[in-house]
Amino acid sequence: LQFSDLTLSEWAIDTCRELGMKRPTPVQQRCIPRILAGDDVLGIAQTGSGKTAAFALPILHRLAEAPYGVFALVLTPTRELAYQLAEQFRALGSSVGLRCAVVVGGMDVIRQLQELGRRPHVVIATPGRIKVLLEESPDIPAVFSKTKFLVLDEADRVLDAGFEDALRIVFQCLPKNRQTLLFSATMTSELQTLLELSANKAFFYEA
Ligand code: AMP
Repeated sequence: LQFSDLTLSEWAIDTCRELGMKRPTPVQQRCIPRILAGDDVLGIAQTGSGKTAAFALPILHRLAEAPYGVFALVLTPTRELAYQLAEQFRALGSSVGLRCAVVVGGMDVIRQLQELGRRPHVVIATPGRIKVLLEESPDIPAVFSKTKFLVLDEADRVLDAGFEDALRIVFQCLPKNRQTLLFSATMTSELQTLLELSANKAFFYEA
């Protein structure tokens, strides 16, 4: 299977080639078409499997068709992972003018609020910090009123680290008709429950 077999836009296929991604990895082969078809996805895949591009490419494909609002919110357990995700999103989205914001602890809250006010296409956040911004700033929940994708990267760790409060607030702020994409190194009962709560048709991938 080639990237051109996955119903991705021409620009996305070109970008993969330029980045030296010759063929889609198994998680990309299986998950990209399902995400493009509108399904929710629970992907069990390790770091190094290409899981980031497995969700970033279809999100960017959809974003380029209708680039309005904060299109996607990606939650990840640590700052380091947030910056790594942003790097991959920026590389994959460079040809479509992607604007991506990183919202993590330890950085200036006022600057983060200003950044969100400029409606970046993709927000990559740690749960603790996005919770603070959503709770303490009356204008911020509306920033996510049209968001199409919620991604939980390293979802088992996000759930494990006592981020239930943060997730509850995020779920309240995002539209119900969004797609939810969960990626995790291990399968847990909490993940299964989270997927069962989803309103869309769901797809389960395990390497
Ligand atoms: P990840 O599993 O998302 O952490 O990705 C691990 C690394 O694999 C990243 O540096 C990607 O740039 C790279 N990568 C992702 N997809 C492919 C692919 N189809 N071919 C070659 N490298 C890839």
